[in-house]
Amino acid sequence: MAERRVVFHYPKQMVDVPVVYRLSRDFDLEFNVLRANITPDAEGLMVLGLSGDPAKLEQGLAWVESLGVGVQPLEKDVLRQEEKCTECGACLTICPTEALWRDTKTQRVYFDPDRCIACELCVPACPPRAMQVAF
Ligand code: SF4
Ligand code: SF4
Repeated sequence: MAERRVVFHYPKQMVDVPVVYRLSRDFDLEFNVLRANITPDAEGLMVLGLSGDPAKLEQGLAWVESLGVGVQPLEKDVLRQEEKCTECGACLTICPTEALWRDTKTQRVYFDPDRCIACELCVPACPPRAMQVAF
C-alpha cells in the first residue's frame, strides 16, 4: 500500500472530467479529498490523499498528467515570517484557498496554515518576502 498527498491543477477544459472517480474505478485507488476549489469555466484546484497499490498509484497519477491536469506533490510547507509581513494585502487575491485573508474589522492579514496547499503563488508575490518555502 502506498499513500500520496497531491494537488491537482485543473485547466478550464478539464473541470467537468470525473478524474477522481476514474482513479478509483480504473486504478483501484482510495481517495480523500482534503480541499477543492473548482468552478465551471475556470481553472480549479483539488487537494487530495490517494492510496493503493504502488504501481497503480503511479499509473493513475501518470494518467492524470496525460489528461493535462497538473499534479503537484504536497510535501513542502509554506510559512509566513510574521515580523516581515507589512499587511499590504498583495497576497490576498493570489491565494487560491483563502489561507491568507484579511479580517475586515481589524484590517489585519492572517495566514491559516491548515488551508495552505503549498502552491507557492504567494512567495514571489509578497513584496517583503514574508512568505517562504520550508523544506
Ligand atoms: S503579501 Fe506578504 S507582506 Fe503583504 S500581506 Fe501578504 S504576507 Fe503580508
Ligand atoms: S502557498 Fe501561499 S498562495 Fe498557496 S495556498 Fe499557501 S498561502 Fe495560499
